[in-house]
Amino acid sequence: MATIITSECINCGACEPECPNTAIYQGGVEYELNGVMHPPLSNDIFYIVPEKCTECVGFFDQEACAVVCPVDCCVPDPQRPESEDALIVRARELHPDKTFADGFPSRFKEGGGGAASTAGEAAPAATAKPTAAAAPAPVPAAAPAAAPAMEMSTLNIPTIEEWEVPIECHHCKGSYAVAFRHFRSGVVFYCPFCNGSTVVTSSMRNYVAQSLHTFYDQWAHDFEVFQEKRQRQLTEFEERQRERLEALNESLTQARHDYKPPGAPRKRAWIFG
Ligand code: SF4
Ligand code: SF4
Repeated sequence: MATIITSECINCGACEPECPNTAIYQGGVEYELNGVMHPPLSNDIFYIVPEKCTECVGFFDQEACAVVCPVDCCVPDPQRPESEDALIVRARELHPDKTFADGFPSRFKEGGGGAASTAGEAAPAATAKPTAAAAPAPVPAAAPAAAPAMEMSTLNIPTIEEWEVPIECHHCKGSYAVAFRHFRSGVVFYCPFCNGSTVVTSSMRNYVAQSLHTFYDQWAHDFEVFQEKRQRQLTEFEERQRERLEALNESLTQARHDYKPPGAPRKRAWIFG
């Protein structure tokens, strides 16, 4: 059965970019099907074009729109029961340029058929969906938290979980930040200035996570290279200093023979000799 959006939709827009089939449209916006534009199926709230919905079969092990919807209003349409076979056929028709292997992800399969998509798309987070109540209070962006520094540097780089993710409110354009550990798909943050909501989508979450991990990996690699180089330079420096020290000692030893200090015992010459 295709997925539908119920009247509880709050128009947050979180589901639209998650759909692998571009089956979700904003209320009042025409939809496209096979190159032809059609009048909107809803004028007030987001809607799903059933002919384009595969219940994410072929892409994910669960409905991506339902995963991110903060009010659980993306639900199966009991009026439109469809088999997995019919849905994968639709996916192939919608994406003739893609290959769907036999083990394609599907909500019908035991364990979901794997999170990886045959079409190369990122799977949505499979974690329990947090609600608005679970979202922590955001902090204004201008106040970065004093997070623990990375062990390998004296710079105050926060850990990934503590990293402050900047958010711009869609409503008032105000900026605030939340710790990455709270930046989960489906979590709703409320702007501290106008109370407008922002829902974290899985694509947003994936992008931020990937950026942070890339940064940290690069940082760790560069730091390791730097340490090796510094160790090499230190070894070379110590070697040079050791040679200079030996040369100095040699020179002082030689001076001991060449220069007699005043008052040093000398062999007397025989006055009449
Ligand atoms: S279930 Fe999947 S394919 Fe259907 S509308 Fe939702 S995201 Fe799109
Ligand atoms: S995520 Fe849910 S509430 Fe938000 S627009 Fe989509 S259906 Fe509506």
